[in-house]
Amino acid sequence: MLKPGATIGILGGGQLGRMLALAAARLGLRCHIYSPEKDSCAFQVTPLSTCAAYEDERALMRFAAAVDVVTYEFENVPAKTAALLAKRKPVLPDPKVLEITQDRLIEKNFIAELGVDTAPYAPVHSASQLAAAVENIGLPAVLKTRQFGYDGKGQAKIAKGGGPAAAWRSLRDVPCILEGFIGFEREVSVVAARAADGKIECFDVTENEHRDGILKTSRVPAKIPTPVAAEAKRIASRLAKAFGYVGVLAVEMFVVKHGRARTLMVNEIAPRVHNSGHWTIDGATVSQFEQHIRAVAGWPLVKPLRLGRVEMVNLIGSEVNEAAQWLTVPGAAVHLYGKGEARPGRKMAHVTRVWPGR
Ligand code: AMP
Repeated sequence: MLKPGATIGILGGGQLGRMLALAAARLGLRCHIYSPEKDSCAFQVTPLSTCAAYEDERALMRFAAAVDVVTYEFENVPAKTAALLAKRKPVLPDPKVLEITQDRLIEKNFIAELGVDTAPYAPVHSASQLAAAVENIGLPAVLKTRQFGYDGKGQAKIAKGGGPAAAWRSLRDVPCILEGFIGFEREVSVVAARAADGKIECFDVTENEHRDGILKTSRVPAKIPTPVAAEAKRIASRLAKAFGYVGVLAVEMFVVKHGRARTLMVNEIAPRVHNSGHWTIDGATVSQFEQHIRAVAGWPLVKPLRLGRVEMVNLIGSEVNEAAQWLTVPGAAVHLYGKGEARPGRKMAHVTRVWPGR
């Protein structure tokens, strides 16, 4: 258990690292941000930082010496970086979680082995394997790169009657998986925290609306029947337990309607705090960021209580200019990430509104 004043090292310097550091500060803990990008927005909120490549072993060793525990705010931390740090200081969640979640095929196999549903999928490593996978899974389908996909990048949809060859070419000959395209009713996520003692606390199920593959709006509670929400939390808890997870993770799921019944399919696991949990800063008694900090610091988790109906909207790219209009809206909480250039698709800010009551 870290004492107040201890230092948590965070790999990654984006808005997630920034909001983690702000939550840690409230608990009297320090954060040291490690990021290769010199304009990382997390650098702005703590004086402790290292700007160096993830392959820079000397910088990593200095970082390890300066912190009490290491965590990360993005899942593509090179395995070697995490392994090197783990020799010096505890790395939480365990780097083996990264090995699983960095690769869509390994991740899907892990989920399926636990008896949890996913979209039908098959590995694709060549154009001819793609043709066979299409034969098995059918169309429409989505071809996804096994690694480094995010915010809808590294994906190509193959329409019914469409030609798979173009999709294969567009992803440039890298290992992929083919997934059946799911005609879901809605998309939801569960943000869950697990402490080292195995205690798990889930936030209420969030309903997510994407635009161009990027999260645009999250609403809580999700419009799903209570037993489906309970099942979604059970699935997230089962995955967290199977990983031996310490910290916050997010599980994205599709809600699929069969007549009047609904089932859940896991789409993706994020081994970190997640955009669909940003609402918890203003909409709950404890945020996802604080729960993560508590977990990696060895502090107890607390059961989150939701303060009302909540809506969180991302301001993406030039939409950041809308932030000014929100500043005077009663009940709207504006979060600007302090990023420089408002490039298209870049998450610049979010606004949360809470309507008290359930
Ligand atoms: P991902 O990067 O896997 O989270 O995908 C980004 C978004 O693409 C998801 O949130 C869905 O809206 C959509 N998507 C991904 N995979 C599928 C699928 N198998 N069927 C239908 N939609 C999908």
